[in-house]
Amino acid sequence: MMPDGKSPTQTGMNTRLARIGYEPSDYFGFVNPPVVHASTVLFPNARTMAERGQKYIYATHGTPTTEALCHAIDALEGSAGTVLVPSGQAAVALSLLAFLSAGDHVLITDSVYAPTRQLADTVLSRMGIEVEYYEPRIGAGIKRLLKSNSKVVFTESPASNTFEVQDIPAIARGAHTGNAVVMMDNTWATPLFFRPLDHGVDISIHAATKYPAGHSDLLLGTASANAATWPRLWAMFLALGIPAAPNDTYQVLRGLRTMGVRLAHHQKSAIEIASWLEHQPGIAGVRHPALPSHPDHAIWKRDFSGASGVFSIVLEGDPQAHAFLDALTIFGLGFSWGGYGSLAMQVDLADRTVASGALKGALIRLQIGLEDIEDLKQDLVRGLRAATRAGQPGIDQSVFVKEI
Ligand SMILES: *Cc1c(COP(=O)(O)O)cnc(C)c1O
Repeated sequence: MMPDGKSPTQTGMNTRLARIGYEPSDYFGFVNPPVVHASTVLFPNARTMAERGQKYIYATHGTPTTEALCHAIDALEGSAGTVLVPSGQAAVALSLLAFLSAGDHVLITDSVYAPTRQLADTVLSRMGIEVEYYEPRIGAGIKRLLKSNSKVVFTESPASNTFEVQDIPAIARGAHTGNAVVMMDNTWATPLFFRPLDHGVDISIHAATKYPAGHSDLLLGTASANAATWPRLWAMFLALGIPAAPNDTYQVLRGLRTMGVRLAHHQKSAIEIASWLEHQPGIAGVRHPALPSHPDHAIWKRDFSGASGVFSIVLEGDPQAHAFLDALTIFGLGFSWGGYGSLAMQVDLADRTVASGALKGALIRLQIGLEDIEDLKQDLVRGLRAATRAGQPGIDQSVFVKEI
């Protein structure tokens, strides 16, 4: 239910985003919640203190600011509870640590966000947890990989950088036959375009650093659990002691208010540019789940209600990648997408073990920002021309770089 008592399905998404999480009358009518800087909370008397008999008891457990964002995210995800931590990577780590113990087996999609793999291969392995990577398109086949000690199946869809779309309902059904907890890194779609818990996932994880924050100026992670998994996630959150900071929490709630209109623009521009790129010289392929050419387009269409602004292209030839990137003037070269500005980077798939697949050339990930589409297209043409020239041996590239 929304704070005004309406069911979430009764109003449109942008209307919900404008209201969820906080009721102005709770704080003197101010439209936004206060940014509460706190550690200590005072109790009126010894008995209340002994019984923990009031709403807030210590800032690690929550404040009016964190509560507003948690309620907003629960409304979007349909979750029983949400924890806020200082980065998306911390949300991944907290969730895995909450459900894995020595001797357990965890199945992780091979196209996972690289730092998640790093965590699994170092910390989890060192703790005596058996880590196994599976082919992202495995679907119901996940059942065959389950062992008696499989406790978690970790999914991420679409995949980081390579954009395979997973059959999440089939994976969740399969995993639950072995009583494994299903987690999903849902950062790409945001809860606006995919609601993991509606598709059988137990815990939905986000780098709110990306679209929810939206301005490339902070880090924050969220993990949202269904009723069955919430107590254990919450206990681990308190045990690790990694609550998100007040200003960052506030800024993410602020970001949610405009996330719908921002995502609509990201979506439209990215689809237009991706479709256009499919027909540009120098491009060997485009990987965008919303394009009919994507091998998993049907699953994306069945399960997702939209697409964000991140996808990949394959350049014809490998040596051209740096020429392409260096010729860009609007696209920045940077990692953390979801902000207002367009970004490009070359993807390194060296860590993939099952889902590597041969590429015809360099894989470049693009985040399409909020700039004007025509300017972005021109910038990409600059990059593609530079790449073509770099691909012609014996030509001095510097001549052409000056010319552009
Ligand atoms: C960026 C990202 C993360 C990590 O978020 P940080 O806040 O940068 O730690 C996790 N998963 C995915 C898919 C991401 O893109």
